[in-house]
Amino acid sequence: MPSLLPYVEKLRLVDHHCHGVVRRDLDRAAFEALLTEAGVSGPLGGTLFDSQIGFALRRWCAPVLDLAPHAAPEEYLARRAELGFAEVTERFLTAAGLAAVCVDTGYAPEPQLSPAELGDAAGAPAYEVVRLERVAEEVAQAGGTAAGFADAVLQRLTGTVEERRAVAVKSIAAYRVGLDLPGERPTRAEVTAAADRLLRTDAVDRAPVRLADQVLHRFLMWAAVDLGLPLQIHVGYGDRDIDLHRCNPLLLTGLLRAIEPAGVPIMLLHNYPFHREAGYLAQVFPHVFLDVGLATHNLGHRSSALLAEALELAPFGKFLFATDAYGLPELYHLGALLFRRALSDHLQAALAEGAFAEPDAARVAELIGAGNARRAYRLPPP
Ligand SMILES: [Zn+2]
Repeated sequence: MPSLLPYVEKLRLVDHHCHGVVRRDLDRAAFEALLTEAGVSGPLGGTLFDSQIGFALRRWCAPVLDLAPHAAPEEYLARRAELGFAEVTERFLTAAGLAAVCVDTGYAPEPQLSPAELGDAAGAPAYEVVRLERVAEEVAQAGGTAAGFADAVLQRLTGTVEERRAVAVKSIAAYRVGLDLPGERPTRAEVTAAADRLLRTDAVDRAPVRLADQVLHRFLMWAAVDLGLPLQIHVGYGDRDIDLHRCNPLLLTGLLRAIEPAGVPIMLLHNYPFHREAGYLAQVFPHVFLDVGLATHNLGHRSSALLAEALELAPFGKFLFATDAYGLPELYHLGALLFRRALSDHLQAALAEGAFAEPDAARVAELIGAGNARRAYRLPPP
């Protein structure tokens, strides 16, 4: 097993896309449900411990809990329960070696650590990312008229971003309607008509509002562009709510072209299995960036191959580190560790062949691990 390049091992990473972790102890079923975004495991599929992420967890997380590498799942979970979630969270977030976290707070079906608490546990500053659809759904839930919807959303969005000092906003259009979105900014009349449909559905169902209308997703993305903040877009793989065939980033081409003159950074999140397509977009559009968070820890041992593919076309100034950790603090550690291994493997292979020079390898590691995120999100220097 090759050791890590020293400048990769020591590099404190800026995690530009991650989430809260749960504040409770977990039994085996609850733990496995959070291990992947599949959220399920059961008799037909066996156990998710028997997968790349399960093996990676036993290999790399067990030692953080003072167990031998490859500890059995039962032993691992027993030790985890013995230490308690607070101690476990502290250990994994410390082990991740993070310089900053940019936390998406838009999805929290149960109480989670706040960005500030995550930052405290990681020993790093925490920044918030506001989910666009959530803001619009809160406005719809509060009632009001279709004609007043656009202004109410814009006002609430501006207020939320200021109040939380958010560094970016995020769209989950991929989850709701897919990414095949027309590029043009929707007209006021189109937004009002779409708001009318949304508000009427709510009145009939009395259920929580769920925004899923391509006009409104586009309206929100353009609102983000007007704010001038980086716009994160969920792309590719996620949980099973997604129709993955509608989440190829190439479907965003028209929208990316339309947004380009505004100069607002567009952050394509996750991307797997379309990471090569995302790399292409990052090459041809100056404002497009990408990561392979979520897939990095799910691919476990194969994450080095993933990173190498993602970096085939993507310029080194356009690629970012992200864990996309959610629920389990282990995912912060795994995401960071597997990313460092993948980056080190890639650079070492290039150095061994004489393809890269050492000073360039060290510089690229810093860009990908931290510098690109600091530049795109205008984060203060460490
Ligand atoms: Zn995420």
